[in-house]
Amino acid sequence: MKKECSVCGKSLGMVSVKYPIKDGDVVCSDCLPKLGYTQKDANMKFLTKFQQVSADDVVRAAAGDADALERISDIVEQKDESKQDREIRKFMERYQLEDLDEKDLVVLRKIATDLAGNGLMKTGMALSFANAGEQLKVTYLSALVEQNWMIIRQLSRMNNALDAISKK
Ligand SMILES: [Zn+2]
Repeated sequence: MKKECSVCGKSLGMVSVKYPIKDGDVVCSDCLPKLGYTQKDANMKFLTKFQQVSADDVVRAAAGDADALERISDIVEQKDESKQDREIRKFMERYQLEDLDEKDLVVLRKIATDLAGNGLMKTGMALSFANAGEQLKVTYLSALVEQNWMIIRQLSRMNNALDAISKK
């Protein structure tokens, strides 16, 4: 079955390299770079996401439309974002912060992202030759961090309880 590249209109046979997009349309390997990606990017994850890209956006993006390019990268890079979301969800489950309200969630996300980075540093330090005093400080500090989360959680519960009372 022959298909035509949605961007350049080149006819693509069974064996030609092609990248499926939405509604059974395809993009050829020459046009993929026009969208900001190379054949090296085209792993399974990429291809799965790429299939949600519309032919309309592909044509616009290849012509240099910044909005279309952004829509495509939003779709393709969506995976990374959800990986980060997963990290944050794990974090929230760990500290039982699920019932925080929206405004606090924004701040929490920022802190959680920073801490996820620090977690790696802490592990790295334990493995390195950092002296015992330094390691002790880090341990105490992380205990403080954990206690802070406990306080945040309790304050949030209190807040919710107060809200419930004031609505009565
Ligand atoms: Zn093409």
